[in-house]
Formats: sequence, C-alpha cells, structure tokens
Amino acid sequence: MKKFSAEKIFDGKNIMKEKVIVTDVEGKILSIDDSSEHDSSSVNFLSGAICPGFINAHCHLELSYMRGRVPKEKGLAQFIRDLLSIRNERMEIVMEEIVKADEEMRRNGIVAVGDICNDDHTLNTKSKSKIFYHSFVEAYGFIPANTAKYFSAALNVFTKAREKNLSASITPHAPYSVPEELMKKIFSFSENEKQIFSIHNQETEAETQFFANGTGDFTKLLNEFFKLNSSEVFHPTGERSVNYLLKFIPKEKNVLLVHNTFTSEEEMKNISNEFSKVYWCTCPRANLYIENRLPDYKRWMSVNDRICIGTDSVASNDVLSIFEEMKTIQQKNSFISTEQLIQWATINGAKFLELNDQFGSIEIGKTPGLNLISDLNEKNMLSENSAVRKII
Ligand SMILES: [Zn+2]
Repeated sequence: MKKFSAEKIFDGKNIMKEKVIVTDVEGKILSIDDSSEHDSSSVNFLSGAICPGFINAHCHLELSYMRGRVPKEKGLAQFIRDLLSIRNERMEIVMEEIVKADEEMRRNGIVAVGDICNDDHTLNTKSKSKIFYHSFVEAYGFIPANTAKYFSAALNVFTKAREKNLSASITPHAPYSVPEELMKKIFSFSENEKQIFSIHNQETEAETQFFANGTGDFTKLLNEFFKLNSSEVFHPTGERSVNYLLKFIPKEKNVLLVHNTFTSEEEMKNISNEFSKVYWCTCPRANLYIENRLPDYKRWMSVNDRICIGTDSVASNDVLSIFEEMKTIQQKNSFISTEQLIQWATINGAKFLELNDQFGSIEIGKTPGLNLISDLNEKNMLSENSAVRKII
C-alpha cells in the first residue's frame, strides 16, 4: 500500500486539498481520505499538485525518427512534401527512435495514447509498452478508383495490430485525402476492436480553399508533388471541408477531430450540438511548428467537456509531453485555468478513447497513474519553470 498527498490534488475535474490518496503497489486507487485520518509519518507528502496520468489523444509514434528534420512554419502542404521526401531512414534507426519516444512519453506522465498508424513499425514497441495504445490505422489516397487498394493497405496494418492484441480501428486520414467511397468503406467496417475514429480536420487554410474552389497549396501538392491531375481526382464541393466529413461521421460513435485551427465558432457549436460524440483535439505545439498559428481557444470553451490534447509527432514538435502542450496553451491564453487544462489532458481523452473506467481521474477502483506538477503559482497557474514528474 502507498499513500500520497500534496498541497493540491487535481482529481481530473476539481481541486481537492488536505486529502490522502491510498493506492496498492500497482497504483490502483483504494481510497481518498481526509488527511486527518492518517498518521502523517505514513504519508508521502509531495510539494506541488498531484493529477492523474495524461492521455495523449493524438500522436504518430512511427514518425519519431523525424525529430528536428522538418523545417518549421512552412505550412501544411510543404510539411507533407518535406515529410514524404525524408521517409527513407534506416530501419534500425526508425525502430530505436520509436522505443525512445515511447519511453519519453512514459517519463512525461502519459499513460494512454491514441496513435496514428500508417505502417507496422510501432506494433512491437506498443505491444510491450507500459503505456496503453489505441492504434488508429489510417486509410487514405486521392484516386477514387483505387479505393479497394487503399482500404486493403490499411486492413493489412490493422490485421497485424490485432494479431498482437493491440486495440485498433481503421480511420480516415483527413477530408482532403479520403474520397467518398473510401469514407463509406471505413465507416462501415465492423471489425474494429473499438468503433472510435480520429480524423485530421481544418489544420490549414489550404484545406478550405481546396474544397471551396479547387485552388491553393493542396491543389499544387496534388498536381506537382503527387503528379496527379487534381481536377480529375477531386471535385470541389463549394463547401467547407468539415461539411464533407459530416456526411459520413456516425453520430453514435466517438470521433476525434484533430487540430481544428481553422474551424469557425459557428461550426464548432453546430457540430457539437448535432454530434454529441465528436471530441475536439488540439496539438498547439505542432500548430505553431507547422503553421505558426494557434486555434482561437475562446471558440473552444463551449465544448470544454470534449476537448482533448495531443502532441502530434516529433516531426512537428520537439518533445512528446502533454504537460508542455498545456503550458504552451496557457502561456498564450491565460483565461484557461490549470484545472480546465488538466480536464482536457486527462478525463476528456480517457472518455474519447473509452478508457475512463481505468484512466483519466483519481477515483476509487481506477489505475490512472499519478503525476506531480511543480511550481504552480499562487493562482494555480503554470509557470515557465513548472515541470511534471511521474510518481506512479
Ligand atoms: Zn497528426
């Protein structure tokens, strides 16, 4: 049995004071008691604030070998070009970096990850990891006639993940890279281990232009980089890209829309009202890295209970730490409290991944992992010096 206490305890939604958390050796919460009920010499009293283990709602572990290799602030279309141009690293380096990234996330207090998967490189590491992974195996491709081929590539990775007993589902990459027939095929696939989905959404203005009238940087990407004739493979809908997505998203399944940097306030409200299982993921450090722009979080506050945080990959970040993402958000948006950020970083992500019976909050019976946050100021705000340490 272990006993922990600290000046403050964030249980995932609220702040508690003068409490003792009692766990078994595995970290399962046995009780949460008033401090007065325990002999203080039996309690491990820590300086700072305790919170549950973090949920990284969006990562690409397989891109870990790209740390520091992609130029910053060039926009998403150029990011994709750069990314695809350096996808030829030696396999032992790819594998080593995946192991290191998994360890890095664990050190930074992350207990569960929604991880995007385009190949099988991460499966071994994930199956041995102490972190829980759900693999979102992306299906994508630009040519509608190749739908069967695109889907079978995803199915191949999905099958390998399931052979290793990993939690997995096939998911669309993004509205601009998944034609209608492929969308339908993905959402009607019944063998997913969990019927949950994760889709890149409105990460760049180029996505809006592409759908509105078939112009902009994505059109150039298709024509010049992929050597396709964009007007043959894609017909602009004249609408916003997210409207195209909404035609396919099942209302009864959890769907994570990732980035949403260019989602309007009205879109957010309407979608949240109509799709009660849509969650919104922000990856602020990746947004700064790629587009040098953050979402307008004031727009997000109406969907507070369904906001999650992701790190994206080290191709567009220098660290895999949900805590650093929280700091980045608060530094530029001081109206967002630490309590709120912890909710986004813990229970919301756990609910999206359907893991809230185990993770996301400090409650009796759960094994959420416990982190210690240091250097909060007197108003409970994070400072430049604030750090996180995994305690269990
Ligand atoms: Zn991503």
